[in-house]
Amino acid sequence: MTARYRGLVMGDVIKLMLNDAELASCVGCGLCLPHCPTYRVTGEEGLSPRGRIAAMRSVAWENAPVDDTFVRFMDTCVQCRGCEPACPSGVQYGHLIEGTRHSLAEAKRTTPWWQRAGFKVLGHHRTLLAGSTFLAIAQRLRLVPKRLGLGPLPVRRGPALRSTGSDTYVFTGCVMDAWQRGTHRATQRVVEATGATCSVAGRGGDCCGALHIHAGLEDEAKRLAGKVIASMPGDAPVLVNSAGCGAAMKDYGHLLDTAEARSFSARVRDVHEWLAERIDSLPAPDATRARPAIIVQDPCHLRHVQKAHLPVRTVLGRYADVVELDDEGLCCGAGGAYSALQPALASDIRSRKIAAIDRAKSTSAATVVASANPGCSMHLAAAGATVMHPLDIVADLMP
Ligand code: SF4
Ligand code: SF4
Repeated sequence: MTARYRGLVMGDVIKLMLNDAELASCVGCGLCLPHCPTYRVTGEEGLSPRGRIAAMRSVAWENAPVDDTFVRFMDTCVQCRGCEPACPSGVQYGHLIEGTRHSLAEAKRTTPWWQRAGFKVLGHHRTLLAGSTFLAIAQRLRLVPKRLGLGPLPVRRGPALRSTGSDTYVFTGCVMDAWQRGTHRATQRVVEATGATCSVAGRGGDCCGALHIHAGLEDEAKRLAGKVIASMPGDAPVLVNSAGCGAAMKDYGHLLDTAEARSFSARVRDVHEWLAERIDSLPAPDATRARPAIIVQDPCHLRHVQKAHLPVRTVLGRYADVVELDDEGLCCGAGGAYSALQPALASDIRSRKIAAIDRAKSTSAATVVASANPGCSMHLAAAGATVMHPLDIVADLMP
């Protein structure tokens, strides 16, 4: 059994039971600092990966009390994991922050009841759809505060995906199905253009638990992961069009530590990875139609965690000219629920991404940004960017 993390409350001291080898692996070189969005906008050591790991060591190894400063350091981490690929020592920062957030949540130092109630709804799809419709109507009546960073939500979302065969599963998820269901239909159209058929998950396959893991609600995430695995039996690949969901589902083996979970995770593919391997099966571009220029924004969980950002270029590049940003994949500040929970920092981080988008626009004919994660696209759209999922663009351009 691999080491798992648990948080124990000892009086007013919280003992972080982190993996010592992982915690010790940071050599303090600081090479990760320029890749950390919270360090970039604040310049604060405590809001850098190195500073956060030092704080974790103080609590885990020296029984330092968990005070408000420690909680702030951990709460303000976007969990973008931009620090991981930059680290020459291979520090598994994602494991460290997830373990710490889990310990803090268990000790009720983070994730208050109203957040837990909100996360609970994500696993109840009908309730989520009804709540989303209510929220969309409230938006139209200007009753939803703009600081929540929600783009315009759909009052009507159109028909849900229907199974057409058993070659693949297309995972539809919770928020993505409620807010961007049209992207699922586009995904099915593009996948089926290769000649493959699609199934949808059975009962219980509604929410992957990614947001719960971010919030430290590991037990709830495990429960949801078990349901997702049971909802897609067999050995067909599980195609995911949301970067955050795909990253979480590829990590079920680590989360649940079972052979069944590891086997399921091995079937999970970001849909662009799967399509890029079949790129010649997609229809040839319409030669009479001009190729649009499209700016690509890499969601952190696609680029830093799944390392599946290049296939997006392969798929999009069949029909459009890809325009790159010059910020080396710096986080946009969306971070699951981060933009709602840390609006000031999320906005400061986003400003840098918007500036990079503006630079790309000024040197190309591109006006549209492609993003393969619903959180990023809504966060950027709330700042005025025109953002579409890559497969919405591809489905529009396919003959
Ligand atoms: S996960 Fe992102 S925000 Fe958190 S320390 Fe690493 S780079 Fe910084
Ligand atoms: S996390 Fe990695 S890159 Fe950052 S200070 Fe530690 S060893 Fe260096």
